Amino acid sequence: MKAVIAGAGIGGLTAALHLHEAGIEVEIFERADEVRELGVGINMLPHAVTVLADLGLLPGLDAAGIRTRELVYTNRFGQVVWQELRGLDAGQEAPQISIHRGKLLGVVHRAVIARLGPDVIRTGCRVAGFEQTEDGVAVHLGGHDGWRGTAHGDLLIGADGIHSTVRAQLYPDEGAPIWSGIMLWRGATRWPIWRDGRTMAIAGGNFAKFVYYPIEVDHADPNMRLTNWAVMAKVGEPGTAPVRREDWSRSGIPGEVLPFVRDRFHLDFADPASIIQSTENFYEYPNCDREPLPRWSFGRVTLLGDAAHPMYPVGSNGASQSILDARCLAGYLRTQDEIEAALSRYDAERRPATSEIILANRRGGPEGVIDMVEARAPDGFDDIDAVASFEERQAVVRGYALLARGRNR
Ligand SMILES: Cc1cc2nc3c(=O)[nH]c(=O)nc-3n(C[C@H](O)[C@H](O)[C@H](O)COP(=O)(O)OP(=O)(O)OC[C@H]3O[C@@H](n4cnc5c(N)ncnc54)[C@H](O)[C@@H]3O)c2cc1C
Repeated sequence: MKAVIAGAGIGGLTAALHLHEAGIEVEIFERADEVRELGVGINMLPHAVTVLADLGLLPGLDAAGIRTRELVYTNRFGQVVWQELRGLDAGQEAPQISIHRGKLLGVVHRAVIARLGPDVIRTGCRVAGFEQTEDGVAVHLGGHDGWRGTAHGDLLIGADGIHSTVRAQLYPDEGAPIWSGIMLWRGATRWPIWRDGRTMAIAGGNFAKFVYYPIEVDHADPNMRLTNWAVMAKVGEPGTAPVRREDWSRSGIPGEVLPFVRDRFHLDFADPASIIQSTENFYEYPNCDREPLPRWSFGRVTLLGDAAHPMYPVGSNGASQSILDARCLAGYLRTQDEIEAALSRYDAERRPATSEIILANRRGGPEGVIDMVEARAPDGFDDIDAVASFEERQAVVRGYALLARGRNR
């Protein structure tokens, strides 16, 4: 059996590793000229780390990232709204790992090259469309200088991100991603250690949120960490087109983000304005998703990762869910006799689970807990329990965690 994969992102590459383990031949086509370690911080939830650990990648993740110990939600004055241990420290089966997205991609990419060989990924080669026949899929390719070609496989996995070409062929009338009106600015810079150097914080509320987490030990200076920050604020109306098209590598403009944080946040771990100003390059990304789909698998073609379920980047689920997709898909291809049956079993398992997360992220995800408290106590509080009871706060955060993990696991 041979699988053609569109896209060498975290989803496509993890799928390649799993399919290889299942004895399935793989060929990957990537639009970019090389697999570059782009992006800033990303969080891998324990259920996804388990999958990568089973693939033997935990030592690489540990060398590149940080095992997050605790997550603290605060209002804009740094008053604690909710705090919880994470990963192994919370008794889960694996650590939560905060890591540079490029370093994560590098760990998975190197494993693909080592196990599947250097020729398995064709870079500079975009999937332009496909045709299904009785016994296979013809995948149309495009390259530089008008080059055109065709690859053949027994199945096609569209792991080609939020602007997926495979999805567009399956749903030609869908149009552009949907913008929430929220802009997300993100960057990473060296920053003095806070607490144990393994603590993540999300502060603020509806007006603006500030996210902070260390992603890499600084071997030259144990008092510093490469630290990821993000600011989220409403700059437009939901459903309108973003001012600039969503592009993970688009640089941010200091004058656009600073007004949302300057003189507004009073936190003991970082002054958001200072951390932004000390970051050499940072990026903007409009908070976009797409409607959950009624179906991902059509015969021998299916979708995976952001191509299948692009979601707002809240709750640390983008990469984690693509990794769960990869394991699930390879599992069914390993155990089912018919490819079509395997793809529809995968669809039936993963699509409802991820659709719920798309919708939960629209409602604010676990961060909804600070929105709720800010709405009720915009100028701070003396007693958090008087603003929202423990049970009420727990329901917001834990309800989401159950969804992300998959209720049946
Ligand atoms: C450059 C980049 C930077 C990112 N930075 C961050 C970040 O800092 N923080 C964060 O939380 N998330 C980031 N993300 C998103 C995050 O990686 C994904 O949400 C998550 O990992 C799911 O991955 P995916 O493999 O499904 O999609 P993606 O990571 O988007 O990967 C899709 C891949 O498909 C390729 N592709 C697209 N169209 C075609 C085509 N027609 N044919 C062949 N290949 C194609 C793309 O070049 C890309 O390599 C970034 C994504 C990218 C592409």
